[in-house]
Amino acid sequence: MKLQFSAADEAFRLEVRTFVKEHLPADIRRKVELGLRLEHADYVTWFRILEARGWLTPGWPVEHGGPGWSHVQRYIFDEETLLGGAPRIIASGIQMLGPVLHAFGTEEQKRKYLPDIRQSNTWWAQGFSEPGAGSDLAAVRTTAVLEPDGQHFVVNGHKVWTSYAQWCSMMFALVRTDPNASKPQEGISFLLIDMASPGLTVRPIRMLEGGTDLNECYLDNVRVPVENLVGELHKGWSYGKYLLGHERTGIAGIGSCKQQLARARQLAQQQGLGDDPVLQARLAQFEVELMALEFTALRLLSAHQQSRTPAVEASMLKVRGTELRQAIFEALLDIAGPDAVPFSLDAQSLEHLDEAVTDPTLVALAANCLDARKLTIYGGTNEVQRNLIARATLDAF
Ligand SMILES: Cc1cc2nc3c(=O)[nH]c(=O)nc-3n(C[C@H](O)[C@H](O)[C@H](O)COP(=O)(O)OP(=O)(O)OC[C@H]3O[C@@H](n4cnc5c(N)ncnc54)[C@H](O)[C@@H]3O)c2cc1C
Repeated sequence: MKLQFSAADEAFRLEVRTFVKEHLPADIRRKVELGLRLEHADYVTWFRILEARGWLTPGWPVEHGGPGWSHVQRYIFDEETLLGGAPRIIASGIQMLGPVLHAFGTEEQKRKYLPDIRQSNTWWAQGFSEPGAGSDLAAVRTTAVLEPDGQHFVVNGHKVWTSYAQWCSMMFALVRTDPNASKPQEGISFLLIDMASPGLTVRPIRMLEGGTDLNECYLDNVRVPVENLVGELHKGWSYGKYLLGHERTGIAGIGSCKQQLARARQLAQQQGLGDDPVLQARLAQFEVELMALEFTALRLLSAHQQSRTPAVEASMLKVRGTELRQAIFEALLDIAGPDAVPFSLDAQSLEHLDEAVTDPTLVALAANCLDARKLTIYGGTNEVQRNLIARATLDAF
């Protein structure tokens, strides 16, 4: 097991750091550093800069534009871009659908969809979760019935928690095509749905921090051409599982933890709490936990290098990383004290920052803390991750 980066990896780290410093637009960096809201155009601008460098699609095969990085390089890239103040790569088309189409799509589907994903011309929504089918995804009830002439599916159902659907022109969805299958997993298919189709309605869900990036999607007799089926009919469960394997990458957010911990130390100085022993002990505890988390991440990378499947370590990283980030955000709120209380959604943009009733650097802090509540839910809830860890550990005895 190797717990140190090689000289080549360190050189790569420097290359990424320098690139971010030189190419990330200053206004986007400032928004990220202050935790302000990012617009669709901010993501697209940064993604196109990365694409021009060949760095947008690390999970794609080299022959289709992937950079051919090792797991260590992907880890370094995620960490350095976050520390450099760049937006996270959040687009589902890049991280989730791309790898599925490469592995299971038809040549026609690859030609039609992949170039627009790479150029950020098309954003894709992930239509998996439904009321009653979140952790238990095999319970999806949205139906897709093939018309008698075999040319179209007719889709009816209700998807929920669809991230950024307001920016998406396409959706990939799990739908039930065989209600009589002997196991629920066996009657599901994977469909590509044009969001402009008649009968598809998107409704925003207002979140704790006031944002509306999550949505409900209602599908009422939506007709989907049969060529939009990915892979085989009724085999969508296995493509969905393949996709979720890609979703978990980098979910521990070590770069984000480091970024927020640095912000906490800086804020403590700013608020005159730099010498407070109780606060110092709290921040030191985070530092130690972050170091332990990073070593676990490096162990995971080492297992990847040796081609072991490190499922349990990935669950551990998810649980510890997300809980640590939430704890650091809570500490940030405590350090800011009443200064963090007044927050307004309108003030969370660069244009309106001067109108903030509080210190502009604190304008988004409360919103960021509320937003962090989602971390332990998405990508497989932490309770479910704990089940996986327990099962794997008990099976070992
Ligand atoms: C910010 C955010 C973005 C999201 N984006 C998308 C998206 O773009 N597309 C999409 O399809 N989905 C998305 N989701 C949905 C997400 O995948 C689900 O919220 C998640 O899978 C949990 O499902 P659920 O909300 O239905 O909760 P449930 O599965 O109903 O769980 C409710 C509670 O019960 C617990 N629980 C459930 N089963 C067990 C068990 N077996 N043992 C112990 N405890 C259990 C859970 O941990 C949780 O605490 C998003 C969610 C969030 C928060």
